[in-house]
Amino acid sequence: MTDLEGRVALVTGGARGLGEAYVRSLHAAGARVVIADLLEEEGAALAAELGEQAVFQALDVTDEAAWDRVVAASVAAFGSLDVLVNNAGIANAAPIEHLTLAKWDAVIAVNLTGVFLGCRAVVPQMKAQGSGSIINISSVEGMRGSPGLHGYTASKFGVRGLSQSLAVELGASGIRVNSVHPGLILTDMTTRIDPARIDIPLGRPGVPDDVAGTIVFLASDASRFTSGAEFVVDGGMIA
Ligand code: NAD
Repeated sequence: MTDLEGRVALVTGGARGLGEAYVRSLHAAGARVVIADLLEEEGAALAAELGEQAVFQALDVTDEAAWDRVVAASVAAFGSLDVLVNNAGIANAAPIEHLTLAKWDAVIAVNLTGVFLGCRAVVPQMKAQGSGSIINISSVEGMRGSPGLHGYTASKFGVRGLSQSLAVELGASGIRVNSVHPGLILTDMTTRIDPARIDIPLGRPGVPDDVAGTIVFLASDASRFTSGAEFVVDGGMIA
C-alpha cells in the first residue's frame, strides 16, 4: 500500500537535509520526484544521481510567479502531480525585544507564505485529477512554544492551521492535506542546538530518515482516509 509507482511528488527544499531524505524515500517507493530548491548545484546533483525518475527545478518558494512555472514544468516532465511536500523552511531566533521586523518577515515569508503559495499552485492540477496529497511540514514548534523562536513558532502554527482549513475545503475534491511536526532532527538547521540539553524519551535526536517513513505513508494509499491530521515525529519529546 506504500507503493508509489506512477505517482509524481514535488518536494520543496528537497536538495538537502530532511527534504533530501523525503526525495530519496519517495523515489525508493517508486515515485517520480521533482526536487525544488534554491540550491541549484545540490539539487541538480541529487536529480542526476536518481536518474530519469527525478528532475530538479530552481524555486524560491516565496516567488509567486515561479510556482506556476514549476508546477507546469513538473506536469510537463511527468504527466501529473500527485504529492506536494511543502518542506522548505528557515529558522531564526531572538528574544522578543531583539526580534527585528526583517527577521520576522523573512521567516513568515518562507515558512508560511511559501506553503500557502505552494498549496494554491498545485490545487488546480490536483482538482483536475480528482486526487492529491499535500503534506505540509510544520514542527513541534507548531504544537507548543519555545523561548526565542517567535517568528518560527508563529509560522509553524500557521502551517498547522492552514493545513486544517485546506483539508476541510479540499476533501470533496479528493485532495488530502496533513501536517507533519518533526522534533529535533540533526541537519544543517540544528547544528547550534545541543541535543544533550533536550529530553527525548527515545534517547537520541532524530536523523532525516526517521521522518521519511511518515512522508511516504502520507503520500501513499496507506493513508487514503487520513486528512486534516497532525503527525508528531519527535521521539516522544513533547509527550
Ligand atoms: P535545512 O536548512 O537543512 O534545509 C532546508 C532546505 O530548504 C534547504 O535545501 C534550503 O535551500 C531550502 N530552502 C530554504 N529557503 C528556501 C526558499 N525560499 N525556497 C526554496 N527552498 C528553500 O533544514 P531542515 O532541517 O532539513 O528543515 C526542513 C524543514 O523541516 C523546514 O521546514 C524546517 O522548519 C522543518 N523542521 C526541521 C526540524 C529539524 O530539527 N531539523 C524540526 C522540525 C521541523
